[in-house]
Amino acid sequence: MNKMFQASTLNALMLGNYDKTVSVAEMLKRGDTGIGTYEGLDGEAIFFNGRAYKGTADGTVVEMNLNDNVAFGNVTKFDESVKTNIVRDIKSLADFKEALAPYINHNLNQFYVIKSEGVFKTMHVRACYKQEEKPYKTLAEVASCQREYKYENIPGYVIAIYCPNYVEGINLPGWHFHFLSKDLTKGGHILGLSSAEIFFKLNEQRNYEIILPNNIEFTKLNLCEDLKAKTEAVEGASQHK
Ligand SMILES: [Zn+2]
Repeated sequence: MNKMFQASTLNALMLGNYDKTVSVAEMLKRGDTGIGTYEGLDGEAIFFNGRAYKGTADGTVVEMNLNDNVAFGNVTKFDESVKTNIVRDIKSLADFKEALAPYINHNLNQFYVIKSEGVFKTMHVRACYKQEEKPYKTLAEVASCQREYKYENIPGYVIAIYCPNYVEGINLPGWHFHFLSKDLTKGGHILGLSSAEIFFKLNEQRNYEIILPNNIEFTKLNLCEDLKAKTEAVEGASQHK
């Protein structure tokens, strides 16, 4: 059975714990497909075909080295043998979620990962700037200095994970989407998209493993704080619509 592997917890990230949880090498040993962010909240991570990419705040994508570090993220060893599905006439991210619903509604209490591909009529992404100085700002403070990019008619991949509602605080309940362009030059956290057709493979995940950060700040965090409203604001927010 394939496994959803996670580095750190979402509330730790929300509270500014952006230090190393695992190296890129350790992350890729546990999975080839996933999303996350790097040490220092440095950009948006896309783990794709066993490589680690970073959508940076300057709008470019770089491939990470094995000795770079991951602060937070999820990966799985993606099972490519499953069938490919198609959803059509996707006008928004909400549309995409609605189109995916019939594939996951039979069990909303487990995890899912999708690997998808399409030509996106519109693709709206954001990426955060690296935080250079400690103490780090919290994610809610940082998100106000993210950069956003809008692309048109761009071929690429969407990697997304679905987490059940009960993981609130540990990860983001519902879907979380990251983009990587087909030519590997653009990418980020998806705020909006549209496409005539999106092809995707879906992996169901009942096996979930978390490795916690090993730093002094983490030991002192109150990880029970209810950050739901702040999390929703950060993960869905566009600074200028
Ligand atoms: Zn994201």
